Amino acid sequence: MPTKTAVLSEGKSKILHTTDDPNLLIQEFKDDATAFNGVKKGTIVGKGVFNQSISTSIFRLLEQAGIKTHLVEVLNDREQLVKRVDIVMVEFVVRNIAAGSLCRRYATEEGLKLERPMIEYFVKSDELGDPLIGREAIAILGLADYEILDLASELTMKVNEIMVAFWKTLGIDLVDFKLEFGRDNEGNLLLADEITPDGCRLWDTKTGEKLDKDRFRFDMGGVEESYARLQSLVTEAAGV
Ligand code: UDP
Repeated sequence: MPTKTAVLSEGKSKILHTTDDPNLLIQEFKDDATAFNGVKKGTIVGKGVFNQSISTSIFRLLEQAGIKTHLVEVLNDREQLVKRVDIVMVEFVVRNIAAGSLCRRYATEEGLKLERPMIEYFVKSDELGDPLIGREAIAILGLADYEILDLASELTMKVNEIMVAFWKTLGIDLVDFKLEFGRDNEGNLLLADEITPDGCRLWDTKTGEKLDKDRFRFDMGGVEESYARLQSLVTEAAGV
């Protein structure tokens, strides 16, 4: 079993550790929560445990549907063994219903059901505040070539299709979410990072209640309870 050797990087909600195997990392989920580009900071007690579990169930479900991911195995309730990848420095956001920055940017009404799912690309850079970027700029500035961009976009749409159907069975609308991809040492493009309520908007279909990190962003209360509820729903439904 690989053991931790050093901290490779520490982000807002996770720590990546190197291991004695150069191709494997340990991804540790923290309880720290941030919003509005790190301006708001706090703790969601137990979030690391809930998110590790939710992301594992979802990644396994996606693997079963033929999506390759970086997940190797669960080590304990906060840590996963993952394949080391070169992360594509673009965040792939897919939207089904208008919310968040889309509404702020275009004065679109929150809750508008989009005619079809759409992808928006953002630069993965805390320093720059993750700005929106177009395909041309991604390719020309060298963030990713068109081949990677097209493949990752295709995978994003496929993940969205699977996720929308999955959440629907739980009585939850998947409004939008963010994905990250990376290339392993053989050049395969793998889904990386996490899929958790930190990076998804999830609304109760019947009541419209917000169940995700927006509860923390906007001080809506019941944050821990909502994450706990999602974790138990997801693990039971995914059955993996
Ligand atoms: N998101 C994320 N990390 C980011 C930016 C966005 O996980 O750095 C997720 C966010 O949780 C939401 C979706 O991507 O589910 C779309 O976010 P949006 O662009 O609306 O930005 P926000 O309103 O969160 O500022």
